[in-house]
Amino acid sequence: MSLPTTAKFATTAVHAGAEPDPTTGARATPIYQTTSYVFNDVDHAAALFGLQAFGNIYTRITNPTQAVLEARLAALEGGSAALALASGHAAQFLAFQTLLEPGDEFIAGRQLYGGSINQFNHAFKKFGWNVVWADATDPASFARAVTPRTRAVFCESIANPGGLVVDLPAIADVAKQAGVPLIVDNTLATPYLCKPKDFGADIVVHSLTKFIGGHGNSIGGAIVDCGTFDWLGSRHRYSSLIEPSPSYNGMVFAETFGPMAFAIAARVLGLRDLGPAISPFNAFLLLTGVETLPLRMQRQTDNALAVARWLGTQSKVAWVNYAGLETSSNHSLQQKICPKGAGAVFTFGLKGGYEAGVTFVSGLKLFSLLANIGDTRSLVIHPASTTHRQLQDDERSAAGAGPDVVRLSIGIEDIDDIIGDLEQALAAV
Ligand SMILES: *Cc1c(COP(=O)(O)O)cnc(C)c1O
Repeated sequence: MSLPTTAKFATTAVHAGAEPDPTTGARATPIYQTTSYVFNDVDHAAALFGLQAFGNIYTRITNPTQAVLEARLAALEGGSAALALASGHAAQFLAFQTLLEPGDEFIAGRQLYGGSINQFNHAFKKFGWNVVWADATDPASFARAVTPRTRAVFCESIANPGGLVVDLPAIADVAKQAGVPLIVDNTLATPYLCKPKDFGADIVVHSLTKFIGGHGNSIGGAIVDCGTFDWLGSRHRYSSLIEPSPSYNGMVFAETFGPMAFAIAARVLGLRDLGPAISPFNAFLLLTGVETLPLRMQRQTDNALAVARWLGTQSKVAWVNYAGLETSSNHSLQQKICPKGAGAVFTFGLKGGYEAGVTFVSGLKLFSLLANIGDTRSLVIHPASTTHRQLQDDERSAAGAGPDVVRLSIGIEDIDDIIGDLEQALAAV
């Protein structure tokens, strides 16, 4: 069997990249729990090591279970190739490691997952990669941040934790003017709600841990190469892409691999040498999860809209920040960037501030208080005391995680039970 090129999203989510196992006929993709692969002979081994032939050598670099997940993600995002990794953070790390040299800069919208703010401000500094912060609600702030050392632009499509829908085409314009790739973290939207490539992204990164896996059982990440950036024609020198690679007999990746050059360089240089490989078992669980992505995402988005509307009618609620609400200042952008819905993660504030937030969160019974999003289960967190705790006060507020903020990630449960739980917890405030 093979997937028609006209296959729609829900069909792609179930089938892309997978074939029945040629040896056993197994219909589900097997977990290839192996470290290494037998070579046909010495010449075959030499061709694999030299990248003259595609094939498996060692599971740090490629694995057949991982390969199906990669093909599935590339197809869903409309990209040319993908690389699955141990975590979302590993995906960001390898994406930047493939692009940047010490002393280079990249511009990032400051409305980001708290862990990404830490990664950029602290871990990346040790490599000499300098983040320059901009405001994701103001594309002109990205333009003002461009310098001769700028080598990439980064933002989330729907920003965690505030659920802000970002003006990707405007930010893509800035990246184009600067001659650098736009990297979009599409974790909260997933390709079901938004395909960043359609709005000018060159590279998409994911935490598969969240909605793609969708069941809160495995950590994983991915880089998707959209195949759109012209490395050879760029006025900047991206050395991993355009310089002869000393460890591959002087091969120039952008010449040899064309639109897949970035994904391949990130794999055979970055992943090979730095090592954050995904386990075959996690790749299998994430692959199982992605099959139901469109069903879960639509249900969670519909539930989230119903919860946001209900919260808006409650006298103890100070504000609700959900781009799916017609009253939101972010609503018109949401209609343009992710018209199927604003996702399942959003924030609201209680009139009683910090104290009320703590009482409310403690009173929930169906919702789990934990540091994750995108599970089938409804989740709640108080970002100021958890995910965004390590940040400075001003960074926290700028990221949409002030002291009164409660973040919800709405699950697939029955909406009556979700609202019932919120109602009883609110009554105790
Ligand atoms: C969770 C998350 C990450 C980090 O992913 P891990 O899989 O936890 O490493 C990055 N970006 C966003 C938007 C996230 O929600």
